[in-house]
Amino acid sequence: MLRWSTATVCMGGTLETKLSAAARAGFRAIEIFENDLTFFNGRPREVRAMADDLGLEIIALQPMRDFEGMQEPARAKNFDRAERKFDLMEELGTKLLSLCSSVAEDASGDAARCAADLAELADKAATRGFRIGYEALAWGRHVHDWMQAWDLVKRADRPNLGIVLDSFHICARKNPIAPLAQIPADKIALVQVADAPAIVMDPMSLSRHHRCFPGQGDWPMIEYLEAAIATGYSGPISLEIFNDQFRGAPANAIARDGMRSLQICGERLEANRKIRGETPLYLGRALPEPAKIGGVEFIEFVTSTAHSPRLVGELEGLGFARVARHRSKDVDLYRQNDVNIVVNREQEGFAHSFYLVHGTSVCALALRLDDPQRALERANSLAAPTYFGRVGPGEAQIPAIAGVENSLIYFMKDSPQGRTTWDQDFNFVDVPAHPGPLQRVDHLSNVVRRSEFLSWITFYKSVLGFTDEPQVELADPYGAFFSRVISAPDGVVRIPLNIAEGGSTGVSRFIENFGGGGVQQIALSTGDLFAFVEQARARGVKFLDIPDNYYADLSARCDLEPGILERMRTLGVLYDRHKGGEFFHIYTRMFDQRFFFEILERRDYDLFGAANTPIRLAAQASEQDSALRQRAMLELE
Ligand code: MG
Repeated sequence: MLRWSTATVCMGGTLETKLSAAARAGFRAIEIFENDLTFFNGRPREVRAMADDLGLEIIALQPMRDFEGMQEPARAKNFDRAERKFDLMEELGTKLLSLCSSVAEDASGDAARCAADLAELADKAATRGFRIGYEALAWGRHVHDWMQAWDLVKRADRPNLGIVLDSFHICARKNPIAPLAQIPADKIALVQVADAPAIVMDPMSLSRHHRCFPGQGDWPMIEYLEAAIATGYSGPISLEIFNDQFRGAPANAIARDGMRSLQICGERLEANRKIRGETPLYLGRALPEPAKIGGVEFIEFVTSTAHSPRLVGELEGLGFARVARHRSKDVDLYRQNDVNIVVNREQEGFAHSFYLVHGTSVCALALRLDDPQRALERANSLAAPTYFGRVGPGEAQIPAIAGVENSLIYFMKDSPQGRTTWDQDFNFVDVPAHPGPLQRVDHLSNVVRRSEFLSWITFYKSVLGFTDEPQVELADPYGAFFSRVISAPDGVVRIPLNIAEGGSTGVSRFIENFGGGGVQQIALSTGDLFAFVEQARARGVKFLDIPDNYYADLSARCDLEPGILERMRTLGVLYDRHKGGEFFHIYTRMFDQRFFFEILERRDYDLFGAANTPIRLAAQASEQDSALRQRAMLELE
């Protein structure tokens, strides 16, 4: 039966921890990485007992290395080594030993000799009822492509010898994938799956540090799995990810991410089969379809009574007006066209706890969905449980799930008839008709810890059905900055996820100041940025200072009308263009070094002005440096 599996090497911790994390994430099959067994302080049969108790089938012991093509006496020694592995397998209760192509310098590449070694090993395994799976390592000495491994397996021609397919080695070597489908199913011992980013690096370093779960990298995982399944193979499909970040993270979170990544692979595989009129694979329980996302319904800030006036001042400066007050909580609603901002000053409950850890910050985001119930069911099926907050009598219960740093993502019904949820919970106040210049939430940048970056990508892609764009790397004055944009279908919600290398980068400082990741940038769109900035400046809003050199460079790069350039310089507006479209944008100063607003005007432009990100980072770094200098002076006085 086709089923998902994971290798213990994917996770960090002790073998006991790994087994229980895998079982908890829903795996029923596991490969035991031999080092995990070596480090285990007990008998292999105890591992078997633990696995049995957890409902895990041990599908393989992996890997045996440097076996084929050796001269005597190393050759005889290898056969002794194999017998010892068979003893371990006996105790573990597993039938398959995986064997990697040799990297030994003195190994012979003679195909007939290597095939004879494999045949003899298979015969010895057969006397004990075991099977051998042979895998081409991308950096194998003589065998590095799957076609070579398959050639040796065919030459050896033993019923209990098959090939181990691993997407990592196949994609790292840019081997053809489609011909995999021609391998007879009974000659495939195991199918392993690992993704990786499209970066140029030697395959061994890439394998050791950058393997990742399917969907977190750039390789054609679905094409690979479809080719493997097209053979008629019906065994386990097993994650095999070597990744330092994964081993440093809690095993439960990594096992959950691995399962989520496989669940969305399964969903895609089933959808493709349905289109082709093929029978379902039944690879796990079908996921409810992602709900259709209509947009961001509100952004919720938490603050304290003491800090609230500054936040409200900033919002009013940006043109927001208070339109409603919560019936039972110290919560106000600020609105401007399609942008709703909730300001929460409660002294208890979720938001207050969030405030205590993170200070004034975005503690929740609400998405408008066509079917919040289905979205919740999908989230629950992907190990994202429902959060229910405290509500007053007669108020609406808005379900939510946990996002970055346990902020909340609310699921609200997208209703063409109006926002009934608001009316139920809020008393609207009479404010003069005041549409304001800001129109909608354009995007929200989230800073995440580097160790959690891939995890959040998998979260958004699986739980919310978002898609991702290729990663971009940008310069920060104190290091490097990486960004990957994830978006809801149709781009109605776009979230650049940002991480950084370097302790003093803007992103690292944010993580330090903020007590972890979170929303750093709230980008709102307007139809006339220049008019907006003039009004906002008149209301006292402070924007980021942009050096004159930027405008000198801009005038050299872009053929801009001098009047426009001068207006941009005076107001501090940044500019980008792409394929005939134009982009004007500006940043407010950082609020407590935690977050800022970007106000933007798009003219047939769909990017994020990444060309100006280094300017923004430099200006923010200089702003923070001068704040630190001022603080130091005050302390001296
Ligand atoms: Mg492998």
